[in-house]
Amino acid sequence: MENCIFCKIAAGEIPSNKAYEDDKILAFHDIAPQAPVHIVVIPKAHIAQSMNDITEENAAIVGHIFQCIPKIAAEAKLESGYRVVCNCGADAGQTVFHIHFHILGGKKLNEVMA
Ligand code: AMP
Ligand code: ZN
Repeated sequence: MENCIFCKIAAGEIPSNKAYEDDKILAFHDIAPQAPVHIVVIPKAHIAQSMNDITEENAAIVGHIFQCIPKIAAEAKLESGYRVVCNCGADAGQTVFHIHFHILGGKKLNEVMA
């Protein structure tokens, strides 16, 4: 999708510090990390702006992302644990409208989530 920063990262038009890649998804280190390890996982295709657009037809990619997250976390040495976050919409502070999941870890995370 035009003017989508994550589509541009997926296409290699904007550089990223990659943590994992396969034919369907890409994981890269967040440019403004909110934890010692902060990785963003995206589908390469602009299948949804947010969680609200997940359907029977496109849900498989979300399943694939969740299958890959433990591998990405292990590679990032998050053996003590990690948190997965999906911000959906304005109240959640979503800023990039290409569905994505944050992996946060590398320290004991705040127990208060909101
Ligand atoms: P969200 O607030 O859930 O929409 O998250 C978007 C995330 O993308 C934020 O944590 C940003 O810091 C991150 N981000 C934006 N641009 C880039 C970029 N060029 N490379 C890596 N991360 C980025
Ligand atoms: Zn996009």
